[in-house]
Amino acid sequence: MGYHREIYETVHRNLELFKKKEEAKAKKNNEIFSKRFPRVKEIETQLSKIAVSATRAAISGSDVKKELQNFKEKSLQLQEELENLKRNVNISPDFLKVKRNCYACEDTGYIDGKMCLCMKELLKKEAYNRLNRLSPAFFCSFDSFDLKYYRELPENSDEPSPRRRMSKILSFCKKYAKEFSKNSKNLLFQGATGLGKTHLSLAIAKEVLQRELGVIYGSVENIVEKLETEKFSNLSDKDGYNNSRHIKNCDLLILDDLGVEFSNSFSNFAVYNVIDCRIMLGKPTIINTNLSLEELERRYSERLVSRIMGHYVKADFLGEDIRQQKGHFNFKNHAN
Ligand SMILES: [Zn+2]
Repeated sequence: MGYHREIYETVHRNLELFKKKEEAKAKKNNEIFSKRFPRVKEIETQLSKIAVSATRAAISGSDVKKELQNFKEKSLQLQEELENLKRNVNISPDFLKVKRNCYACEDTGYIDGKMCLCMKELLKKEAYNRLNRLSPAFFCSFDSFDLKYYRELPENSDEPSPRRRMSKILSFCKKYAKEFSKNSKNLLFQGATGLGKTHLSLAIAKEVLQRELGVIYGSVENIVEKLETEKFSNLSDKDGYNNSRHIKNCDLLILDDLGVEFSNSFSNFAVYNVIDCRIMLGKPTIINTNLSLEELERRYSERLVSRIMGHYVKADFLGEDIRQQKGHFNFKNHAN
Protein backbone atom coordinates (compact mmCIF):
# COMPACT_ATOMS: atom_id res chain seq x y z
CA MET A 1 0.00 0.00 0.00
CA GLY A 2 1.41 3.39 -0.90
CA TYR A 3 1.47 5.99 1.84
CA HIS A 4 2.17 9.66 1.90
CA ARG A 5 5.87 10.47 2.15
CA GLU A 6 5.26 12.18 5.49
CA ILE A 7 3.89 8.94 6.91
CA TYR A 8 7.08 7.09 6.01
CA GLU A 9 9.15 9.93 7.44
CA THR A 10 7.21 10.03 10.70
CA VAL A 11 7.41 6.26 11.20
CA HIS A 12 11.14 6.15 10.38
CA ARG A 13 11.82 9.08 12.67
CA ASN A 14 9.88 7.53 15.56
CA LEU A 15 11.58 4.19 15.08
CA GLU A 16 15.01 5.82 14.99
CA LEU A 17 14.21 7.83 18.14
CA PHE A 18 13.00 4.73 19.96
CA LYS A 19 16.10 2.79 18.89
CA LYS A 20 18.50 5.54 19.97
CA LYS A 21 16.73 5.99 23.29
CA GLU A 22 16.85 2.28 24.09
CA GLU A 23 20.46 1.92 22.97
CA ALA A 24 21.48 4.87 25.11
CA LYS A 25 19.60 3.40 28.06
CA ALA A 26 21.32 0.02 27.71
CA LYS A 27 24.70 1.74 27.34
CA LYS A 28 24.11 3.73 30.49
CA ASN A 29 22.99 0.64 32.41
CA ASN A 30 26.11 -1.19 31.27
CA GLU A 31 28.24 1.71 32.48
CA ILE A 32 26.50 1.74 35.85
CA PHE A 33 26.97 -1.99 36.12
CA SER A 34 30.68 -2.01 35.28
CA LYS A 35 31.32 0.95 37.55
CA ARG A 36 29.65 -0.89 40.42
CA PHE A 37 31.56 -4.08 39.62
CA PRO A 38 35.05 -3.10 38.34
CA ARG A 39 35.78 -6.72 37.50
CA VAL A 40 33.28 -6.41 34.64
CA LYS A 41 35.37 -3.74 32.98
CA GLU A 42 38.49 -5.89 33.43
CA ILE A 43 36.81 -8.88 31.84
CA GLU A 44 35.56 -6.83 28.93
CA THR A 45 38.99 -5.34 28.31
CA GLN A 46 40.56 -8.78 28.40
CA LEU A 47 37.94 -10.18 26.05
CA SER A 48 38.56 -7.48 23.47
CA LYS A 49 42.33 -7.96 23.79
CA ILE A 50 41.90 -11.68 23.16
CA ALA A 51 39.79 -10.97 20.10
CA VAL A 52 42.52 -8.71 18.68
CA SER A 53 45.29 -11.23 19.43
CA ALA A 54 43.31 -14.07 17.92
CA THR A 55 42.75 -12.10 14.74
CA ARG A 56 46.45 -11.27 14.53
CA ALA A 57 47.41 -14.88 15.09
CA ALA A 58 44.94 -16.05 12.46
CA ILE A 59 46.34 -13.75 9.77
CA SER A 60 49.99 -14.39 10.68
CA GLY A 61 49.78 -17.64 8.75
CA SER A 62 52.01 -19.65 11.11
CA ASP A 63 50.79 -22.76 12.90
CA VAL A 64 48.32 -21.15 15.25
CA LYS A 65 45.86 -23.91 15.95
CA LYS A 66 47.01 -24.41 19.50
CA GLU A 67 47.21 -20.68 20.15
CA LEU A 68 43.68 -20.12 18.89
CA GLN A 69 42.43 -22.94 21.06
CA ASN A 70 44.00 -21.20 24.06
CA PHE A 71 42.34 -17.94 23.17
CA LYS A 72 39.02 -19.68 22.82
CA GLU A 73 39.27 -21.39 26.19
CA LYS A 74 40.37 -18.21 27.91
CA SER A 75 37.56 -16.28 26.31
CA LEU A 76 34.93 -18.84 27.30
CA GLN A 77 36.22 -18.78 30.86
CA LEU A 78 35.93 -15.02 31.03
CA GLN A 79 32.45 -15.03 29.54
CA GLU A 80 31.37 -17.58 32.08
CA GLU A 81 32.81 -15.51 34.88
CA LEU A 82 30.89 -12.51 33.58
CA GLU A 83 27.64 -14.46 33.39
CA ASN A 84 28.15 -15.79 36.93
CA LEU A 85 28.82 -12.33 38.18
CA LYS A 86 25.56 -11.05 36.68
CA ARG A 87 23.66 -13.98 38.11
CA ASN A 88 25.15 -13.50 41.59
CA VAL A 89 24.22 -9.86 41.81
CA ASN A 90 20.70 -10.81 40.83
CA ILE A 91 20.45 -8.43 37.92
CA SER A 92 17.51 -8.77 35.56
CA PRO A 93 18.69 -10.23 32.26
CA ASP A 94 17.04 -7.34 30.39
CA PHE A 95 18.75 -4.62 32.38
CA LEU A 96 21.87 -4.62 30.21
CA LYS A 97 20.26 -5.48 26.91
CA VAL A 98 18.87 -3.12 24.32
CA LYS A 99 15.09 -3.33 24.45
CA ARG A 100 13.51 -3.76 21.05
CA ASN A 101 10.06 -3.15 19.78
CA CYS A 102 10.69 -5.85 17.20
CA TYR A 103 13.46 -8.38 17.61
CA ALA A 104 13.03 -9.75 14.09
CA CYS A 105 14.40 -6.61 12.43
CA GLU A 106 16.03 -5.08 15.54
CA ASP A 107 13.91 -1.98 14.94
CA THR A 108 15.42 -1.18 11.60
CA GLY A 109 12.07 -1.89 9.94
CA TYR A 110 13.65 -4.11 7.30
CA ILE A 111 14.92 -7.67 7.01
CA ASP A 112 17.21 -8.40 4.07
CA GLY A 113 15.95 -5.34 2.27
CA LYS A 114 12.31 -6.36 2.73
CA MET A 115 9.88 -4.41 4.87
CA CYS A 116 9.32 -6.07 8.24
CA LEU A 117 5.78 -6.76 9.47
CA CYS A 118 6.29 -4.34 12.36
CA MET A 119 6.97 -1.56 9.86
CA LYS A 120 3.82 -2.37 7.91
CA GLU A 121 1.80 -2.17 11.11
CA LEU A 122 3.39 1.13 12.14
CA LEU A 123 2.68 2.66 8.74
CA LYS A 124 -0.93 1.54 8.85
CA LYS A 125 -1.43 2.97 12.32
CA GLU A 126 0.18 6.27 11.40
CA ALA A 127 -1.98 6.57 8.28
CA TYR A 128 -5.15 6.03 10.29
CA ASN A 129 -3.98 8.35 13.04
CA ARG A 130 -3.51 11.13 10.54
CA LEU A 131 -7.01 10.75 9.19
CA ASN A 132 -8.55 10.41 12.61
CA ARG A 133 -6.61 13.13 14.35
CA LEU A 134 -9.53 15.51 14.42
CA SER A 135 -12.13 13.02 15.45
CA PRO A 136 -13.63 13.52 18.88
CA ALA A 137 -13.77 9.73 19.47
CA PHE A 138 -12.04 10.21 22.76
CA PHE A 139 -15.09 11.84 24.32
CA CYS A 140 -17.69 9.41 23.06
CA SER A 141 -18.35 6.07 24.60
CA PHE A 142 -21.40 3.94 25.28
CA ASP A 143 -21.06 4.79 28.97
CA SER A 144 -21.39 8.50 28.30
CA PHE A 145 -24.55 7.99 26.24
CA ASP A 146 -27.33 9.05 28.57
CA LEU A 147 -30.89 7.83 27.95
CA LYS A 148 -32.29 10.38 30.39
CA TYR A 149 -32.30 12.95 27.57
CA TYR A 150 -34.91 10.92 25.71
CA ARG A 151 -38.50 11.17 26.81
CA GLU A 152 -40.28 8.10 28.01
CA LEU A 153 -43.61 9.27 26.60
CA PRO A 154 -43.94 10.42 23.01
CA GLU A 155 -45.39 13.82 22.20
CA ASN A 156 -48.28 12.22 20.31
CA SER A 157 -49.82 9.05 21.59
CA ASP A 158 -49.56 7.32 18.20
CA GLU A 159 -45.77 7.71 18.14
CA PRO A 160 -43.24 5.34 19.72
CA SER A 161 -41.50 6.19 22.98
CA PRO A 162 -38.19 7.94 22.22
CA ARG A 163 -36.49 6.41 25.25
CA ARG A 164 -37.55 2.91 24.38
CA ARG A 165 -36.47 3.38 20.77
CA MET A 166 -33.09 4.81 21.76
CA SER A 167 -32.53 2.16 24.37
CA LYS A 168 -33.00 -0.45 21.63
CA ILE A 169 -30.62 1.40 19.31
CA LEU A 170 -28.06 1.67 22.10
CA SER A 171 -28.16 -2.08 22.76
CA PHE A 172 -27.96 -2.77 19.06
CA CYS A 173 -24.87 -0.53 18.72
CA LYS A 174 -23.17 -2.14 21.71
CA LYS A 175 -23.72 -5.57 20.21
CA TYR A 176 -22.58 -4.37 16.80
CA ALA A 177 -19.35 -2.97 18.29
CA LYS A 178 -18.70 -6.07 20.34
CA GLU A 179 -19.19 -8.41 17.43
CA PHE A 180 -17.67 -6.13 14.83
CA SER A 181 -15.79 -7.88 12.06
CA LYS A 182 -14.57 -6.88 8.64
CA ASN A 183 -17.83 -8.27 7.28
CA SER A 184 -20.21 -6.49 9.63
CA LYS A 185 -23.33 -4.86 8.24
CA ASN A 186 -23.60 -1.25 7.07
CA LEU A 187 -25.60 1.09 9.27
CA LEU A 188 -27.65 4.14 8.42
CA PHE A 189 -28.34 6.40 11.39
CA GLN A 190 -31.17 8.75 10.56
CA GLY A 191 -32.76 11.48 12.62
CA ALA A 192 -32.69 15.16 13.43
CA THR A 193 -29.64 17.03 14.67
CA GLY A 194 -28.49 16.41 18.22
CA LEU A 195 -29.99 12.95 18.79
CA GLY A 196 -26.69 11.15 19.32
CA LYS A 197 -25.92 9.73 15.87
CA THR A 198 -22.33 10.94 15.94
CA HIS A 199 -21.98 9.94 19.55
CA LEU A 200 -23.03 6.32 18.96
CA SER A 201 -21.07 5.91 15.75
CA LEU A 202 -17.94 7.18 17.50
CA ALA A 203 -18.57 4.91 20.47
CA ILE A 204 -18.56 2.03 17.98
CA ALA A 205 -15.39 3.42 16.38
CA LYS A 206 -13.69 3.62 19.74
CA GLU A 207 -14.24 -0.06 20.43
CA VAL A 208 -13.25 -1.10 16.92
CA LEU A 209 -10.05 0.98 17.13
CA GLN A 210 -9.12 -0.72 20.37
CA ARG A 211 -9.00 -3.96 18.45
CA GLU A 212 -6.45 -2.36 16.15
CA LEU A 213 -8.77 -2.38 13.18
CA GLY A 214 -8.53 0.60 10.89
CA VAL A 215 -11.29 3.15 11.30
CA ILE A 216 -11.73 6.33 9.36
CA TYR A 217 -14.16 8.88 10.69
CA GLY A 218 -14.98 12.09 8.93
CA SER A 219 -17.79 14.39 8.01
CA VAL A 220 -18.77 13.84 4.41
CA GLU A 221 -17.68 17.42 3.82
CA ASN A 222 -14.12 16.73 5.03
CA ILE A 223 -13.85 13.46 3.21
CA VAL A 224 -15.04 14.95 -0.08
CA GLU A 225 -12.56 17.78 0.41
CA LYS A 226 -9.70 15.31 0.91
CA LEU A 227 -10.67 13.39 -2.20
CA GLU A 228 -10.98 16.57 -4.21
CA THR A 229 -7.59 17.90 -3.11
CA GLU A 230 -6.05 14.58 -3.94
CA LYS A 231 -7.67 14.41 -7.32
CA PHE A 232 -6.67 17.88 -8.39
CA SER A 233 -3.21 18.01 -6.90
CA ASN A 234 -2.21 14.59 -8.20
CA LEU A 235 -0.86 13.82 -4.76
CA SER A 236 -1.43 10.15 -5.18
CA ASP A 237 0.75 10.01 -8.28
CA LYS A 238 3.59 12.05 -6.86
CA ASP A 239 3.90 10.65 -3.39
CA GLY A 240 2.22 7.31 -3.67
CA TYR A 241 -0.24 8.34 -0.98
CA ASN A 242 -3.83 7.61 -1.60
CA ASN A 243 -6.59 8.97 0.63
CA SER A 244 -9.14 7.53 -1.70
CA ARG A 245 -7.75 4.01 -1.39
CA HIS A 246 -7.73 4.25 2.42
CA ILE A 247 -11.24 5.57 2.56
CA LYS A 248 -12.45 2.75 0.33
CA ASN A 249 -10.44 0.03 2.05
CA CYS A 250 -10.40 0.80 5.77
CA ASP A 251 -12.08 -1.75 8.05
CA LEU A 252 -14.78 0.70 9.14
CA LEU A 253 -15.70 4.01 7.53
CA ILE A 254 -17.91 6.51 9.32
CA LEU A 255 -19.47 9.13 7.09
CA ASP A 256 -20.88 11.80 9.34
CA ASP A 257 -23.45 14.39 8.33
CA LEU A 258 -24.33 13.12 4.89
CA GLY A 259 -26.23 15.84 3.05
CA VAL A 260 -24.66 18.80 4.82
CA GLU A 261 -21.69 19.09 2.46
CA PHE A 262 -21.56 21.61 -0.34
CA SER A 263 -23.18 19.95 -3.28
CA ASN A 264 -21.68 19.86 -6.75
CA SER A 265 -21.17 17.23 -9.41
CA PHE A 266 -17.79 16.20 -7.93
CA SER A 267 -19.11 15.78 -4.38
CA ASN A 268 -22.19 13.85 -5.53
CA PHE A 269 -20.05 11.58 -7.64
CA ALA A 270 -17.51 11.10 -4.81
CA VAL A 271 -20.22 10.22 -2.26
CA TYR A 272 -21.82 7.67 -4.57
CA ASN A 273 -18.47 6.25 -5.52
CA VAL A 274 -17.28 5.75 -1.92
CA ILE A 275 -20.56 4.20 -0.76
CA ASP A 276 -20.92 1.98 -3.81
CA CYS A 277 -17.31 0.88 -3.77
CA ARG A 278 -17.49 -0.20 -0.12
CA ILE A 279 -20.67 -2.17 -0.77
CA MET A 280 -18.91 -3.95 -3.64
CA LEU A 281 -15.88 -4.69 -1.44
CA GLY A 282 -18.13 -5.87 1.40
CA LYS A 283 -16.60 -3.36 3.84
CA PRO A 284 -18.76 -1.93 6.63
CA THR A 285 -19.74 1.73 6.61
CA ILE A 286 -21.81 3.79 9.03
CA ILE A 287 -23.64 6.79 7.61
CA ASN A 288 -25.16 9.53 9.74
CA THR A 289 -27.69 11.84 8.20
CA ASN A 290 -30.40 14.30 9.10
CA LEU A 291 -32.11 13.64 5.78
CA SER A 292 -34.91 11.19 5.15
CA LEU A 293 -34.66 8.68 2.32
CA GLU A 294 -36.87 10.92 0.15
CA GLU A 295 -34.64 13.90 0.84
CA LEU A 296 -31.55 11.84 0.07
CA GLU A 297 -33.08 10.77 -3.19
CA ARG A 298 -33.86 14.37 -4.14
CA ARG A 299 -30.39 15.53 -3.23
CA TYR A 300 -28.34 12.68 -4.68
CA SER A 301 -30.03 10.12 -6.85
CA GLU A 302 -32.47 7.26 -6.80
CA ARG A 303 -29.51 5.03 -7.58
CA LEU A 304 -27.71 6.00 -4.37
CA VAL A 305 -30.79 5.56 -2.21
CA SER A 306 -31.54 2.17 -3.70
CA ARG A 307 -27.94 1.08 -2.97
CA ILE A 308 -28.37 2.24 0.63
CA MET A 309 -31.79 0.63 1.05
CA GLY A 310 -30.52 -2.66 -0.30
CA HIS A 311 -27.39 -2.84 1.83
CA TYR A 312 -27.86 -0.87 5.04
CA VAL A 313 -29.55 -1.53 8.36
CA LYS A 314 -31.54 1.58 9.19
CA ALA A 315 -31.87 3.05 12.67
CA ASP A 316 -34.31 5.93 13.18
CA PHE A 317 -33.21 8.14 16.03
CA LEU A 318 -35.96 9.82 18.04
CA GLY A 319 -36.09 12.58 20.63
CA GLU A 320 -35.25 16.22 21.09
CA ASP A 321 -31.94 17.93 20.42
CA ILE A 322 -29.68 16.90 23.31
CA ARG A 323 -27.21 19.72 22.81
CA GLN A 324 -30.00 22.21 23.28
CA GLN A 325 -31.15 20.39 26.39
CA LYS A 326 -27.64 20.41 27.79
CA GLY A 327 -27.25 24.01 26.71
CA HIS A 328 -23.56 23.86 26.27
CA PHE A 329 -20.98 23.64 23.58
CA ASN A 330 -21.17 21.38 20.60
CA PHE A 331 -18.16 19.09 20.52
CA LYS A 332 -18.52 18.59 16.80
CA ASN A 333 -17.93 22.26 16.12
CA HIS A 334 -15.16 22.22 18.62
CA ALA A 335 -13.40 19.27 17.04
CA ASN A 336 -13.76 20.20 13.42
ZN1 LIG B 1 10.42 -5.56 12.65
